[in-house]
Amino acid sequence: PPDVELLGRSSWTLLHSIAASYPANPSPIQQEDIKTFVSIFSRIYPCWFCADDFQAYIKKNEVQVKSQEAFGKWMCEAHNEVNRKLGKKEFDCNLWQQRWKDGWKG
Ligand code: FAD
Repeated sequence: PPDVELLGRSSWTLLHSIAASYPANPSPIQQEDIKTFVSIFSRIYPCWFCADDFQAYIKKNEVQVKSQEAFGKWMCEAHNEVNRKLGKKEFDCNLWQQRWKDGWKG
């Protein structure tokens, strides 16, 4: 596959940014769109062993799309699953909006 680290950093930036712009109260169509997006993303992600694990994760942990809060937390947990697998530090998911939406406080 291409550079798995650069691809990963870029992709998480895109995924968390999509979560940060997802509506607080998404319409049924917006909820369907985000489910479809995550599902297709997990099948076309161009790191095949990453994609396999991500698909398995989605099967066990259904994507949460009822609100921005729910989707952002879900994405953060999915990212933490990969962090654990790679032996990286887990991220505090209470802080995902500060990191990806509002900017750090203080
Ligand atoms: P990244 O993990 O890329 O994180 C970028 C930034 O996001 C961090 O600096 C931090 O500020 C923030 N962040 C960290 N954790 C969270 C979180 N939980 N929630 C919100 N923000 C957070 N690599 C492999 O080697 N094997 C794999 O199987 C694999 N699977 C992947 C599956 C997917 C779907 C994706 C998108 C990437 C995958 N990667 C995989 C790549 C891997 O996750 C990292 O992107 C890569 O190792 C570079 O890591 P990094 O330390 O630069 O930070």
